[in-house]
Amino acid sequence: AAERLADKIILITGASSGIGEATAREFASVANGKIRLILTARREERLKKLSDQLKIQFPLIKIHSAPLDVSVKTQIKPFIAGLPSEFADIDVLINNAGKALGRSNVGEISDDDLDGMMQTNVLGLINMTQAVLPIFKKKNSGDIVNLGSIAGKDAYPGGAIYCASKAAVNFFTTSLRKELINTRIRVMEVQPGAVLTEFSLVRFHGDQDASDAVYKGTEPLTAQDIAEIIVFGVSRRQNTVVAETLVFPSHQA
Ligand code: NDP
Repeated sequence: AAERLADKIILITGASSGIGEATAREFASVANGKIRLILTARREERLKKLSDQLKIQFPLIKIHSAPLDVSVKTQIKPFIAGLPSEFADIDVLINNAGKALGRSNVGEISDDDLDGMMQTNVLGLINMTQAVLPIFKKKNSGDIVNLGSIAGKDAYPGGAIYCASKAAVNFFTTSLRKELINTRIRVMEVQPGAVLTEFSLVRFHGDQDASDAVYKGTEPLTAQDIAEIIVFGVSRRQNTVVAETLVFPSHQA
């Protein structure tokens, strides 16, 4: 796996916490630092901290960390076009940035929350793909990994907008994979079940008790569990596509 990842340029959205952060660490670790990471999210200080830690741990690593809000379309193309030259020729795009809400019924959800989920989970992911795909097409090579969810497969009451956003990720991903058939561009989707990250805290607008209640009496996955699946997919032999991976803790089966 280390050889297949060597010198790759990997862009991760939402790298400031949870699955995105764990994925950055896992790529660095599996490649023994022989890798170039582009770490993006809105919280710049978190990215800097992660970047500093990785540089100490892996002296060979090259990191470009910079703020990017994927829900703001006008930021995306200039971000990609403005990458420093040694990071410009992206090889792997991890579309991980995402937002959810605690249960919120249709008709009650605020416009801000509705727009935020759709603009981040759906349009953000699509606009990132639109911006990076020309780079992949030019060299006929590249990997896209989209973070879907078990919620894109199995809807639940109170989750209509989040479930719809992740179902959209699923069909976008499958359609794009079919569109790119006979190219050397791979399109993959990882669909986690319950993973213990800050996600739940964000879902409940910082209410720790409500967030904790989601996991009470269960053993959720860790961000590392998902990071390992993502890195596994990207580090397969070129003609092997790990198309869809639904992965959940055993209590969710
Ligand atoms: P976290 O809340 O820990 O991480 C979410 C990341 O997304 C953060 O780094 C956050 O960074 C970033 N983000 C949110 N909004 C934006 C935005 N507009 N622009 C750029 N970055 C943004 O949650 P997870 O790690 O759990 O979530 C990662 C992905 O996994 C999401 O797509 C989520 O839907 C998916 N997932 C998670 C599950 C879970 O149980 N945790 C289950 C199934 C899927 P910042 O705030 O700094 O911008």
